[in-house]
Amino acid sequence: MKAVRKPKLKYRRILLKLSGEVLKNREKGDCIDAERLAFMAERVKKIHKLGVEVGIVLGGGNIFRGLSGAKNGVNRVVGDSMGMLATIINALAMMNALESIGVPTRVMTAIEMPKLAEPFIQRRALRHFEKGRVVIFGGGTGNPFFSTDSAAALKASEIGADAL
Ligand code: UDP
Repeated sequence: MKAVRKPKLKYRRILLKLSGEVLKNREKGDCIDAERLAFMAERVKKIHKLGVEVGIVLGGGNIFRGLSGAKNGVNRVVGDSMGMLATIINALAMMNALESIGVPTRVMTAIEMPKLAEPFIQRRALRHFEKGRVVIFGGGTGNPFFSTDSAAALKASEIGADAL
């Protein structure tokens, strides 16, 4: 029997940063548009199917940004907390979309919410990758005054991603 040769992957593990805006449908006024969500999930599935280990950091700008809130009188730290929660809402939505098309997925959060998702523990995240799961990192860095771009760079380093 001929051995099936797997194509050599350029990147074994990646960290994909998606802005919350990719989920938004301005025409419909939906923060999370089901079609856009499904479209992104399908694209992630394709990458995952190649054998690439995929970590995702999702933004929250489709729901709330601390800086915009501050312009309307919301305390910056409170607003940033709201923004971080928004990223977790998106993470759960993406988890659901991925699992509904057969992609095993886990959400890990920078802010502990044990009833909703696992806290981020680096070694656990690596174990999820070993088991073929997509891992979505919610809650940004867990600190105000940062963005999810910073969180993505941080997570890429922590999981030893080959590409961000
Ligand atoms: N945020 C934060 N700390 C973080 C990551 C995010 O306080 O480590 C807050 C911040 O208010 C930010 C919001 O969460 O505006 C949503 O994240 P971001 O603006 O990065 O989302 P994106 O633009 O990627 O959708």
